[in-house]
Amino acid sequence: MQKKLRHAHTHLTHAGRQENEYGSVNPRVVRASTMVFPTTQALTASYGTRLSYGRHGTETTFALEDALCKLEKADDCILSSSGLAAVTTALLAFLNTGDHLLISDSVYDPTRDFCDSFLKRMGIQTTYYDPEIGENIEALIQSNTKVIFVESPGSLTFEVQDIPAIANVAHRHNIVVIADSTWATPLGWNAFELGIDVSLHAATKYIVGHADVLMGAILCRTQHQAPLRKTHRDIGHCISSDDAYLALRGLRTLAARLVVHRENSQVIARWLLEQPEVEHLLYPPHPTSSGHALWKRDFNANYACGLMGVIFSSQL
Ligand SMILES: *Cc1c(COP(=O)(O)O)cnc(C)c1O
Repeated sequence: MQKKLRHAHTHLTHAGRQENEYGSVNPRVVRASTMVFPTTQALTASYGTRLSYGRHGTETTFALEDALCKLEKADDCILSSSGLAAVTTALLAFLNTGDHLLISDSVYDPTRDFCDSFLKRMGIQTTYYDPEIGENIEALIQSNTKVIFVESPGSLTFEVQDIPAIANVAHRHNIVVIADSTWATPLGWNAFELGIDVSLHAATKYIVGHADVLMGAILCRTQHQAPLRKTHRDIGHCISSDDAYLALRGLRTLAARLVVHRENSQVIARWLLEQPEVEHLLYPPHPTSSGHALWKRDFNANYACGLMGVIFSSQL
């Protein structure tokens, strides 16, 4: 087994697992709302910490947060009730009335709906840019641009974005780069090394992996933690410990599943390309797909998600 591959597998086996007094391998499912404190002093000391009230988390949700932080090399992980809630929380954390937002044109549709309705109502202006724009994004930056939102591969058309080029421009202008990393998965790319400031996932998809839980995860480094934690807390997002347990269980097999996804997808991609109806394959891990060169540069070739699209020939 290659070294890199073993590394991820080892992480997935150990992450979020701490010794507990009962000796079980996995964290306990702790359901909690009100927490009991032995003294008023202990209660006061808990304010602002994670263990003060069930909405702020339990040892089960903390285990999942810790596991995802390790996997993505992040300082903090904030869990929300859905992937869409992770998107909206991250946007609201960095945008105020009068601000401007740049969003990739192939963004997940409900993200677009949120910008076109909710953010518009708040007086926040959105400009959609060509996902393949790269460093030319600089021309679209205004004095009030606060966030550049990227999604790579993009939803349904699978464009791969030049994240280092975009992040470079963004950081020169003090702009926060938020990425929807759902289709990259935590193993597909090193979000923070590419220059992303806030990496979020619809954990519903590859992290949970078994179509039985809706969940979102927002990962960040310390410098972006405060506005994200505050917004998340103010809005009142939380997740159930049962769901956290299922997500942790799903996470354990993420690497194994992605390897099979990659192998099966290659077979399907080859078959699709042999069909006369198919003009273009939209699958960045395949050499004929646009975006393949960037994918090879920025993604871990051991893991590829199984999603792809096709453009049918107009001749038939
Ligand atoms: C599914 C999805 C979401 C939203 O996740 P939900 O858990 O369904 O709210 C966000 N982004 C992308 C790219 C998705 O595919």
